[in-house]
Amino acid sequence: MKFIEPIVRELKEIAAAINSLIVASKYVFLKRPTIEYPTKTIYFHERYRGALEVDDNLCIGCGICAHVCPNRCIFMVPYEKGKPPMIPEIDLQHCMYCGLCVQYCPPGAIYHTHVITIVGFKREDLYLDQRKVTKVQELEYK
Ligand code: SF4
Ligand code: SF4
Repeated sequence: MKFIEPIVRELKEIAAAINSLIVASKYVFLKRPTIEYPTKTIYFHERYRGALEVDDNLCIGCGICAHVCPNRCIFMVPYEKGKPPMIPEIDLQHCMYCGLCVQYCPPGAIYHTHVITIVGFKREDLYLDQRKVTKVQELEYK
C-alpha cells in the first residue's frame, strides 16, 4: 500500500493548487481598488491638503505662518528676489498638513496644492527652500 501515499500527496497538492486558482480568479472580476498612477489620478476634493506652496506676489513676509505652525517647520529667510523681504521655507518632513499656516496668512499667500507625491533620496529633498516653495506644482515630483 506504500505506493498509494505519493499518489494521495500528489492529489492533495493538485487540490490545493485548484483551490488557490479559484480564490485568485474571484479578483479578476472585481473592480480594482488601485489606479495606474501616474497615467491616472484620483479626484481630489477642492479643499484637499497637499504640499504647501507660497505665492511670492502675495506674501508680505510677516512671518505669521511660521509663528502659528505647531510643528515649527516653517522658517523665515531673506528672499533673494528682495520682495517680499522675507519668505517662508518649509520642511515637509515635519509638516502635518494641519492648515494653520494657511488659515492665519493675512493675504492668503500660502496654500495647499494637490501635490501628493513628494519623493527624494535624501531628507533635504523634502525641504522646500525659497526656490522650491514658490513652484511646488511645477516640481518634477508632482
Ligand atoms: S500645515 Fe501645519 S504643520 Fe504644516 S507648515 Fe502649516 S502650520 Fe505647520
Ligand atoms: S505666507 Fe502669509 S503668513 Fe507667511 S510670511 Fe507670507 S504673508 Fe505672512
